[in-house]
Amino acid sequence: MEIAIIAHDGKKKEMVNFLIKHLEKLNRTDIKLIATGTTGTKAEELGLTVKRLLSGPHGGDAQIASRVAEGKTQMVFFFRDPLNAHPHEPDIMMLMRQCDVHNIPLASNSSTAELLIKSL
Ligand code: PGA
Repeated sequence: MEIAIIAHDGKKKEMVNFLIKHLEKLNRTDIKLIATGTTGTKAEELGLTVKRLLSGPHGGDAQIASRVAEGKTQMVFFFRDPLNAHPHEPDIMMLMRQCDVHNIPLASNSSTAELLIKSL
């Protein structure tokens, strides 16, 4: 199962805490992690194996949206920062839309992520 992780800058600390909490589960061999660039680096620093894509503003969200559309990604943890503007807002919308189009579970905050990861 492929899981995507993305965190906006204002939510990276929250994402790191979430990853630490669920390190054992996310390290499972049947789980493949992909991430936007900087989020991926943070996950690697925790010892997780992650396929790092482009940084969000450079197209990372768009790459993940594409993988969702192609049926390659089955779950998305996307810790969005609603209090700041993002230059790549159209890509963010595209990713969320693709999750809805393809009925892919998407957690846009840590509370939802906690519920979602229980399902694994
Ligand atoms: P980043 O991208 O992980 O490269 O910071 C996240 C985003 O801003 O969408």
